[in-house]
Amino acid sequence: MLGSADSDLPRVYRACTEGEHMKADLETLASLAKRRGFAFPSAEIYGGFASTYDYGPLGVEMKRNIRDSWWRRMVQSRDDVVGIEAAIITNPAVWRASGHVAGFTDPLIDCLECQSRVRADHVENNTCPVCKTVGRFTEERQFNLLFRTFVGPVQEDASTAYLRPETAQGMFVNFENVQTTMRRRLPFGIAQIGKSFRNEITPGQFIFRTREFEQMEMEFFCEPASSLEWHTYWKQERLAWYQTLGFNPEHLRLRDHAKEELAHYSQATSDVEFQFPWGWGELEGIAHRGDFDLRAHATGSGHGLSYFDQEKNEHIVPHVIEPAVGVDRLMFALLCEAYDEETDAEGEKRVLLRLAPSIAPVTVAVLPLSRNERLLPTAREVYGALRPHFRTQYDDAQSIGRRYRRQDEIGTPLCVTVDFETIDDHEVTIRERDSMAQIRVPVGGLVAALNERIDALTPKG
Ligand code: ATP
Repeated sequence: MLGSADSDLPRVYRACTEGEHMKADLETLASLAKRRGFAFPSAEIYGGFASTYDYGPLGVEMKRNIRDSWWRRMVQSRDDVVGIEAAIITNPAVWRASGHVAGFTDPLIDCLECQSRVRADHVENNTCPVCKTVGRFTEERQFNLLFRTFVGPVQEDASTAYLRPETAQGMFVNFENVQTTMRRRLPFGIAQIGKSFRNEITPGQFIFRTREFEQMEMEFFCEPASSLEWHTYWKQERLAWYQTLGFNPEHLRLRDHAKEELAHYSQATSDVEFQFPWGWGELEGIAHRGDFDLRAHATGSGHGLSYFDQEKNEHIVPHVIEPAVGVDRLMFALLCEAYDEETDAEGEKRVLLRLAPSIAPVTVAVLPLSRNERLLPTAREVYGALRPHFRTQYDDAQSIGRRYRRQDEIGTPLCVTVDFETIDDHEVTIRERDSMAQIRVPVGGLVAALNERIDALTPKG
């Protein structure tokens, strides 16, 4: 059981393990994440804070790897996308024009039986998801998800500002700045990674839904006539990326939103869904936002926002395709996907995370066979030689078997063991996480041998 911060998890989610391929339920993952330093209940010494987490040393490495992979794929490896970082607290007029102040709401109902507060759109068959009572709900109320704050010393309506609920608007309000300074022609995209905040009614399921989270979003501006083609393109491209992270394609699916489900700005939206421990759930939204946002900000600011097409000699308002995914939610999906348990011939259980090398917090662990002082200088030397090349960890505490177990549990794909023979023959053992295969290689060729194995273990997408 995780710290008290998770006691607000709806029971239905805690017990359920619908995702058939899942070897772990929510609690197993949350407890591994805590035990191994991925994520802790926030301010745990104060009893935690509902559905809020602090990321530990391995969690921050993993999140950084997720961001880097996304940024490389979406920005650095393309000619048609550039990045920005916009302010979290900006002019509140942005959120009035975007429709968030008036309309960023979720429908809220209370179960009269167990007093649980739930989102009306999450209730199936008129049944309370917590206590299963049918049809005993309060009237639906609209609840605004924006976090409000005050800028400056006086707390009054005139100084009200908002924590951004999405990073997307930062791209729209900077459309002209980016387009002109970077001399961009359509189609082109603007990408951003950063924190967003939503006062969610029913946060929970560990880091799947929290009030403070991080998003990776890209707004792709294109000509209206080609926008549907681009929507199709981005759906395929995003799925291909997930495969490079090690997702089995059968555990992901694309789901088109029905008309009545579409957000106010959207002409079409498809979700990339993942089979979470409780069933299919949204991992990423790929929305066709039309020209809604640029027009809304042109109206709101009085500053025309359009693109001058030199060939046609006319101004057009581009349409926008937006792939948007949460770093935290993706980290959780990756932990679900990677978790595995095996039992060996002696009946001993091995827990491992089969994380892709690009995502694993540690890529190579250097482990001297024991703390014998004859081994340590060589082991330290090997560690020093590998550090510039890999995310490397050195560990000489406890038995070698327990150290392998620990590295398996945090998803380290490769371990390098330094033993007494190393001192004479200058060879070390590489041990692979997934197969547990061991081979001996000369220290001189170790970096190349590790790179070869990392390449072989890297999913191709
Ligand atoms: P949901 O329907 O789950 O509330 P949404 O459709 O409102 O999500 P978007 O506004 O499309 O979500 O946000 C894009 C992505 O940001 C989501 O697919 C998800 O990965 C992530 N995300 C959104 N809200 C949260 C949250 N409260 N906690 C963690 N990640 C979130």
